[in-house]
Amino acid sequence: MSLGERVYVGEVLRGLLITIRHLLRNIFAMKDMPTVQYPEEKPRYSDRFRGRHRLMKRDDGSPRCVACMMCSTACPADCIHITAAEHPDPTIEKYPERFDIDLLRCVYCGLCEEACPCDAIRMDTGIYEIVADAREKFFVDKDFLLNDETRGTL
Ligand code: SF4
Ligand code: SF4
Repeated sequence: MSLGERVYVGEVLRGLLITIRHLLRNIFAMKDMPTVQYPEEKPRYSDRFRGRHRLMKRDDGSPRCVACMMCSTACPADCIHITAAEHPDPTIEKYPERFDIDLLRCVYCGLCEEACPCDAIRMDTGIYEIVADAREKFFVDKDFLLNDETRGTL
């Protein structure tokens, strides 16, 4: 370490100059600041962003899910709970009588949609604001996952 570095004066002045430069830029060039004025201004996320889940439907409106449990098996947070039942159509083995997700336990890893062999569960809603006034409302069921239009408020 040189003598100049050991007395720190130069380094302290350099730090001060950097701080002053940032301060002046923040005062006189606010439009260039990366801060988003949330919630009035919403951030734009990539199309690959994982938002809240949804369940896909067949043409007749029934769930595309065949209750194979791949998603719940892959889920590291153990937050998907499925009850399987026999499907009346013999060409479809099963359907989910119940399909619940505990959104408070979910870590949004996307493993459920990766594991699904039927493209029955997707995380492409783009919804990242999920609010409710009671914990139990974060436990969403099949009907909600198929038809929800609340865009975030449970
Ligand atoms: S995103 Fe991850 S944690 Fe959430 S339900 Fe899917 S697999 Fe489970
Ligand atoms: S959502 Fe996909 S992986 Fe999960 S049970 Fe249904 S078909 Fe299987």
